[in-house]
Amino acid sequence: MPELPEVETVRRGLLPAMEGATVTRLEARRPDLRWPLPENFANRMRGRKIERLRRRAKYLLADLSGGETLIMHLGMSGSFRVLRGNEEQSPGEFLYPRSNNETHDHVVFHLEPRATVTFNDPRRFGAMLMGETATLAEHPLFKGMGPEPMDAGLNAAHLARVCRGRSTSLKAALLDQRIVAGLGNIYVSEALHRARVSPRRPARVMAARDGTPTEAAIRLAAAIKQVLAAAIEAGGSSLRDHRRTDGEIGLFQHAFRVYDREGVRCPARGCKGTIRRIVQNARSTYYCPVCQR
Ligand SMILES: [Zn+2]
Repeated sequence: MPELPEVETVRRGLLPAMEGATVTRLEARRPDLRWPLPENFANRMRGRKIERLRRRAKYLLADLSGGETLIMHLGMSGSFRVLRGNEEQSPGEFLYPRSNNETHDHVVFHLEPRATVTFNDPRRFGAMLMGETATLAEHPLFKGMGPEPMDAGLNAAHLARVCRGRSTSLKAALLDQRIVAGLGNIYVSEALHRARVSPRRPARVMAARDGTPTEAAIRLAAAIKQVLAAAIEAGGSSLRDHRRTDGEIGLFQHAFRVYDREGVRCPARGCKGTIRRIVQNARSTYYCPVCQR
């Protein structure tokens, strides 16, 4: 499943073609993806201007003229191809190869200024929905969702407030969308390692007895932002590249310090630990038992 940095690099790659463009025609080649496509999808999209293309957690949000927002999710295997002039690009760098088999091209946007944006999704866990822009925060997908990890609202005080008194593991807490939006399995492991905090510690270690944030919370809030910014930058560096024929292997995976690195020497300076894999809530966690306390 693409994580937040991949989705953000996709957004940045789509911006030049989509933001400010008008949908002259939309092809919906099947009635559903993970969920049914919006009713009268093609008709409702025709003539709409995409005023803004933004992101909330792992959702891409296209604010349209007329007060509605198109909500898009890549699911497990979704990707976009952008055709402008003779140049085709597939924005984003992914850990696993994306399909370019045309039988999985499910939604095609024809845009003015002239561009074609195609959504391809072999496994069809992706989504396209429409919602009223003004009330989007109350949409079932977004209601109760925590702050964006890159925004100022995600800080040590927030972590202390929402984790105070909680005995659930820090790993589970950080995957909880009500605590922080869109931080997935990979980047939770990476952020905890940079913050030198064990994923097994209870979430309550974010708050001191009086409710103020601990040193661990301060380090963790900073580490979350650093690890995501670095991953976005790594993906962003390849946005100008043409679609690669060798399968699009993410660049940032080479920079993972702990994720998928079981048995490897801990990369933290001066640490002689070995990266260990454990299973928490049925998902792999990677960490160093020596420097993460
Ligand atoms: Zn270590």
